[in-house]
Amino acid sequence: MNWLAEFLKIKFYMVTKDHGFVLTRHNFRETSVIAQIFTLAHGKITGIFKGFYGIKKEFSTPLNLYTLNEFVFYPKKSEIWLMSFADIIKDYSFLRLDFEKAHTAAAMAHLINKVMPGWDPNKEIFGLYKACMDYLDKGKDSQRAYYVFIIKFLTESGFKPEFNRCISCGEEISKNAFFSVKKGGIICDKCVNVYGDVRRISHQAIACLRYIQKADLDTVWRLNINYACEEEILFVLRQFLVYHIDFDIMPERFCKV
Ligand SMILES: [Zn+2]
Repeated sequence: MNWLAEFLKIKFYMVTKDHGFVLTRHNFRETSVIAQIFTLAHGKITGIFKGFYGIKKEFSTPLNLYTLNEFVFYPKKSEIWLMSFADIIKDYSFLRLDFEKAHTAAAMAHLINKVMPGWDPNKEIFGLYKACMDYLDKGKDSQRAYYVFIIKFLTESGFKPEFNRCISCGEEISKNAFFSVKKGGIICDKCVNVYGDVRRISHQAIACLRYIQKADLDTVWRLNINYACEEEILFVLRQFLVYHIDFDIMPERFCKV
């Protein structure tokens, strides 16, 4: 054994362990897989699993989309990292059994993939995705999981819409409130004529949006929000995502908004 080569290998390619969700995957050549993974400590990475379809014992996970796995890999300066071990932590069986919930999990993963830059860890967003996946896994409502995910995601990723004060004059809103997609926040009735893209929004919807932005998830899951209010929230979020992030994926049942 060339001990110097081994020493250099260890020094420059320190083997690392991390948890991650599979965002995308495709086969590479005959036996390998390339996947994008949203990891806890390294952010979004691209990994190659050489010999994935061989008899290697190192890859005991099927590496299905949106599942949570443990990985061992070698961080490098190049774009694609070599994965040496992968094992399943949680396979979220609803992904195979419930189309609507699977679609919600996919939409959340697409948003992460679109917005999060590579190699930029964000433990809050990792924890948020995991919490929403666990919520769906318990058989809870997909629509609730989805809009809560978007509201928290926008806050944590720096796109937070303003729901506290008029985004134009800074005053608190006591009478009619409007939402400006372009400005990314609420507008009072004194400033409303300046903007052409506004839409009326109820005080109840503003209160819910504001509350979800601030409160911890355990409290948010217990909130009682009526159907009309949820429709308003989804409409506002959809407009915001399309305009500011060019993202227009809504799980099918929510498309009527
Ligand atoms: Zn104003």
